[in-house]
Amino acid sequence: MPYIIGLTGGIGSGKSTIADLFSELGVPTIDADVVARQVVEKGSPLLAQIADHFGSSILTDGGELNRPTLRERIFQSETEKNWLNNLLHPAIRREMLQQLAQISAPYVLWVVPLLIENQLTEFCDRVLVVDVSPEVQLARATRRDQSKIEVIKNIMAAQVDRQTRLTFADDVIENNLPLNENLSQLKQQVAMLHQRYLHLSQTKGN
Ligand code: ATP
Repeated sequence: MPYIIGLTGGIGSGKSTIADLFSELGVPTIDADVVARQVVEKGSPLLAQIADHFGSSILTDGGELNRPTLRERIFQSETEKNWLNNLLHPAIRREMLQQLAQISAPYVLWVVPLLIENQLTEFCDRVLVVDVSPEVQLARATRRDQSKIEVIKNIMAAQVDRQTRLTFADDVIENNLPLNENLSQLKQQVAMLHQRYLHLSQTKGN
């Protein structure tokens, strides 16, 4: 395994924004949200199992997963939701670990919104938290997703709270300031962390 930096933070905290800054430095990233889509892509065995279980109406005409329909189905039934989670969670975890193992760079940034909630910190050599105040989080996520404040609040309530998340952090990037005021400082901090991670990665015996 390469040296693994788990990057996490609440909804709308700026994980993707920070991950992009690491990518600009050539750091490979594995994003849990991307893997979650890959495991159910068209033609995948998991998508076939989902279609067997829920019926073919769960597929679009093009054979892709019809996400709004699936969301609706599991929203209506806790049993169906558990069935789906039991199918997907182990598969996503397996796929992420496989992809991590294939990385040959000194270190990899593993972007996982629910890193702490799903007990994935045990696979990380280090945890980097993007920290923002709940007010900023709510404002940015609501604007980005064009969602109702209540919807974002519910998602925030289902995630670990800010203080708990910070107790898992080895490093913290504070992302409260608007990007137009703070981008150069964020880039500097990412560059410093990059040097630290390159150094630390040499200490991991493989
Ligand atoms: P999620 O887990 O919900 O996908 P995330 O943690 O990856 O979110 P981003 O998508 O990076 O968060 O950021 C959320 C929104 O806030 C985006 O629209 C992004 O452009 C914006 N944003 C991020 N950081 C800042 C900032 N410092 N100033 C202003 N806007 C920001």
